[in-house]
Amino acid sequence: AKEPMRVLVTGAAGQIGYALVPMIARGVMLGADQPVILHMLDIPPAAEALNGVKMELVDAAFPLLKGVVATTDVVEACTGVNVAVMVGGFPRKEGMERKDVMSKNVSIYKGQASALEAHAAPNCKVLVVANPANTNALILKEFAPSIPERNVTCLTRLDHNRALGQISERLNVQVSDVKNVIIWGNHSSSQYPDVNHATVKTSSGDKPVRELVADDEWLNGEFITTVQQRGAAIIKARKFSSALSAASSACDHIRDWVLGTPEGTFVSMGVYSDGSYGVPAGLIYSFPVTCSGGEWKIVQGLPIDEFSRKKMDATAQELSEEKALAYSCLE
Ligand code: NDP
Repeated sequence: AKEPMRVLVTGAAGQIGYALVPMIARGVMLGADQPVILHMLDIPPAAEALNGVKMELVDAAFPLLKGVVATTDVVEACTGVNVAVMVGGFPRKEGMERKDVMSKNVSIYKGQASALEAHAAPNCKVLVVANPANTNALILKEFAPSIPERNVTCLTRLDHNRALGQISERLNVQVSDVKNVIIWGNHSSSQYPDVNHATVKTSSGDKPVRELVADDEWLNGEFITTVQQRGAAIIKARKFSSALSAASSACDHIRDWVLGTPEGTFVSMGVYSDGSYGVPAGLIYSFPVTCSGGEWKIVQGLPIDEFSRKKMDATAQELSEEKALAYSCLE
């Protein structure tokens, strides 16, 4: 039998946490044969609720779940973890300036970076979900210099999955037959959902999405804004932000990273830019990647047209501004 893997979820008493921990305990994230020990962190005001989640995990009697740590102590939470999913963050409240939210999150992610660096298992893989996800991940990376930069990522898989979902609805095909959409850039409304390399599996082979949809106006307009604005649409409908889809996508992100992407398929991940596709190095930017042997690699050599170039640059520009704002909060 495999040794259990320790998985940290921060903000575990929150909405996404509540949807995410049972998925992890069921093997959705790391595989049906991989035992797990859950480490759940939250802040003191949420401690009682967190304990309630722990009680439910016990009550669910998950065969793969070999232990649960529920704590408000960041060192205890980070100790020995192999995977860290960072969902806890300071939400933007009405009347708050962007800079105030940034400043709260910079200090949270700076502190958690140090705890992870000092106490996580070697080669711990980190996924940041809490917004501003790319910039929180960047701060975490900067303040955990001994964690390899390739191990710090942020979630854009939900946006990626939303794009797959929109194409599947439009063409009335199975979502599992659609692949290779790309989310470029920031996990914000400046992201660029790109279908230029996406295909649909048909009885006569893989066909380009552009050819099948045959409506560039929709693909360059409403499709993009629907994906960009989907989070707001969910809040409007549900009165709460998306949680089950965020949790499920976080599992997809880690599963593909650890266990690999299928041959010929790429997925979107926010990763540390090496300058690929003219994206400034030193930003956490969402790229198309393939994964194998526990490592991601940016897909190279995709042709980029003028329309895409502009959108990729605009979202990079927003990330550079966020980075500058984050650094100004540190001064
Ligand atoms: P959620 O579980 O709904 O969301 C958690 C974070 O994920 C938020 O930052 C949210 O951003 C972000 N997020 C990223 N992508 C998505 C998406 N697609 N859909 C929804 N959310 C997304 O928040 P809750 O308030 O329910 O829970 C947060 C938990 O974090 C609480 O238990 C709280 O106690 C804890 N917390 C921890 C702190 C710390 O560690 N110091 C500080 C503050 C809170 P957005 O806000 O933009 O929706």
